Amino acid sequence: MSTPPAALSELQFHIDLPTTTPAYAHFAVKGWVASLTPLHAVFAGTVAAGNRLALIPRPDVSAALPSCPYVSGFVGQATGAEISDGQLRITIVTASGEHTLAHPLRPPLFPPAAPPAHFAITPEFKARKIRRLAGHLACPICKAILPDAPSRETCAGCGAAFEFSPTLLDFFTPAQRASIPAVGATGDSLGGYDEVMNALVQHFADGLILDCGAGLKDRLFSNVINLEIMDYPSTDVRAFNESLPFATGTFDAVFTLATLEHVRDPFAAGAEIMRVLKPHGIVYSMVPLLVPYHGYPNHYYNMTVEGHRLVFGPSFEPLDASVPLSGNPMWALSGLLHAWHNNLAPSARPEFLNLRIGDLLAPPLTYTDRDFVRHLTPEGALEIAAMTRFIGRKRS
Ligand SMILES: [Zn+2]
Repeated sequence: MSTPPAALSELQFHIDLPTTTPAYAHFAVKGWVASLTPLHAVFAGTVAAGNRLALIPRPDVSAALPSCPYVSGFVGQATGAEISDGQLRITIVTASGEHTLAHPLRPPLFPPAAPPAHFAITPEFKARKIRRLAGHLACPICKAILPDAPSRETCAGCGAAFEFSPTLLDFFTPAQRASIPAVGATGDSLGGYDEVMNALVQHFADGLILDCGAGLKDRLFSNVINLEIMDYPSTDVRAFNESLPFATGTFDAVFTLATLEHVRDPFAAGAEIMRVLKPHGIVYSMVPLLVPYHGYPNHYYNMTVEGHRLVFGPSFEPLDASVPLSGNPMWALSGLLHAWHNNLAPSARPEFLNLRIGDLLAPPLTYTDRDFVRHLTPEGALEIAAMTRFIGRKRS
């Protein structure tokens, strides 16, 4: 039996991800281990905690360490419970025993925090919050500062008229207002607060945050302004994302969560978000990639990470890109399967429900004569199509 070179340590490992202490409760872990004794398992945290990671091939590491007999990658999900003192704990089980190792992570982007105090939706609370916007409001049409808003409801720059009340600043023109469905007429989007939103609400407790496309909220924070096109009880400001009624540099952070896909001009919306942010202000953005059509009231653009980054323009500095637990690929698959089933002729549903995943891995064109493909409604096909097409003509 050959003796490994003395320079080779018995166990080497590396964590590729995460590199920074995640702001999220659940996050992806990826890394590799190289061992001189047979490798049995890798766990995030301790063996007792039971979070076993999957072993995967790492040909790149094997090629770089040709004299190391046991090389493997590992991948899985971890939680904040596996981080302590800024270090991610990994336990590697080899023939020589259990090795619990700590990998230092960079400090978090913002300190994790307990959920901030929240308040019921009352007219008094909303009015107090809206008064904080005095001096920060601007005309969405000509961008003139509105120094006397909300007490004065017209723009001195362009003459635009708005409808302000103590609990709602409505910047829509009558025609715009008429174009928006009434609350309840379409599906309402009730958005909760995740751990990053909670951390930012705490981090900027003395500042001002814009929830841009807030949806319907069931609680309020004193430092979060809810902007919507819909007239929800939790809405503070009604305006379109493409033309925000705030002065440049107003906000410490902007949330745009599952909103940009509903905006007609996401590039204009991204530019507006960057404009109303203070220098070094934080953007927290989520946009669907593989999610079926869902109109609230419309749905225009899904985005890849690359496109998602582009909409914020050149002044956007990306800090972290990942998949939220609430957006993991099961949502893509589940959304596709639900929409498919719901839009399928009832006679074809049993065939669809009895398919195994392995039945679906042949080339797509081999299924085009099957009922579960042929008997999908055209409307359903548009909701979940891999591609849509148009033929059009230039007007005279
Ligand atoms: Zn104006």
